[in-house]
Amino acid sequence: MPEVFNFCAGPAMLPAAVMAKAQKEFINWNNTGCSVMELSHRSSIYMAMATQAEADLRDLMAIPDNYKVLFCHGGGRGQFSAVPLNLLPQGKSADYIVNGSWSKAAAIEAKNFGDINVINIRETHDNGRVSLTAVDKWPLSADAAYVHYCPNETVDGIEINDIPDTNGVPLVADMSSTILSHEIDVTKFALIYAGAQKNIGPSGLTIVIVREDLLGEGKGNAQQATPCIMNYQTSANNNSMYNTPPTYAWYLAGLVFQWLKELGGVKAIAKVNQAKAELLYQTIDKSDFYQNNIEQQYRSKMNIPFWLTDESLNEQFLSQAEQQGLMALEGHRAVGGMRASIYNAMPIEGVQALVDFMQKFEQETK
Ligand SMILES: *Cc1c(COP(=O)(O)O)cnc(C)c1O
Repeated sequence: MPEVFNFCAGPAMLPAAVMAKAQKEFINWNNTGCSVMELSHRSSIYMAMATQAEADLRDLMAIPDNYKVLFCHGGGRGQFSAVPLNLLPQGKSADYIVNGSWSKAAAIEAKNFGDINVINIRETHDNGRVSLTAVDKWPLSADAAYVHYCPNETVDGIEINDIPDTNGVPLVADMSSTILSHEIDVTKFALIYAGAQKNIGPSGLTIVIVREDLLGEGKGNAQQATPCIMNYQTSANNNSMYNTPPTYAWYLAGLVFQWLKELGGVKAIAKVNQAKAELLYQTIDKSDFYQNNIEQQYRSKMNIPFWLTDESLNEQFLSQAEQQGLMALEGHRAVGGMRASIYNAMPIEGVQALVDFMQKFEQETK
């Protein structure tokens, strides 16, 4: 059997070194004689691990002290509800930038909790190419409670590299599929959230990075009906342990943070990510057998959708890829074609194996 490279969009592959370490200490963690998942989240040994994981993430992203880092349940979609519940008071409205499937879903969910102003920035040109309105041309409302956007649209393969200037309005970003893939200036954001299963660890964990002044006092600024487990202030006051956190996912995320630090941090992995994306886009662009219709500057470096010009070859492509150990390349059902998700854990050898296969497949079927 060939080495397997898993291109799944999420849950995605984890670093091999992390999996090996987790396996080694699976039934006896730190000489406790127990698995880490069998220990109380309030035991000192677990708390020490949890605190270290947070410190490592702060280090990796250079998160300033006036931001809380919360380890939550509920995935990215949980935050589609939590963000408006916590940040959208009665009588105010929020701007939602829509450039793909996830930002659209976030806007639809937010409408359950308040007045939402949807701003569509996606443009399809006559030649079929997809582009976006530049960040400095977004028609933002001056008095919005916050602006929400998705810097990397996982399904559509669209990435926004420029950080919008919202003129003081709190900026909220769904970074589920781009967090830790390249350096960002956290101070430009009021709140960043990310489901873990793309670039952090296993599913079941969501990271929320939130500027303290947004939380308010007591139960915070949250809407009255906000469930306690979704209340940022409650979560912050309890060090993300108001209820039992996803303890095993937290531990594995901690191992991923350590792995990333050992590699040289976000700056180092960003270079590899750039090289991986270039390799794949070049292969697509230099052939008329494969296509990607996203305008150059908005192409995602994490999720790369592509189409075979002759779509009748799709099934053949996928089954031969799988025989070569190249897994989960089928595109999202909303988009079709193929999609290669190449998060931090995907080594460049995996992308090389994919482009080698793509070129061979083209030669043999043309
Ligand atoms: C995967 C994803 C989500 C949804 O995450 P769940 O954990 O399944 O709720 C939301 N936003 C983005 C950008 C994603 O990639």
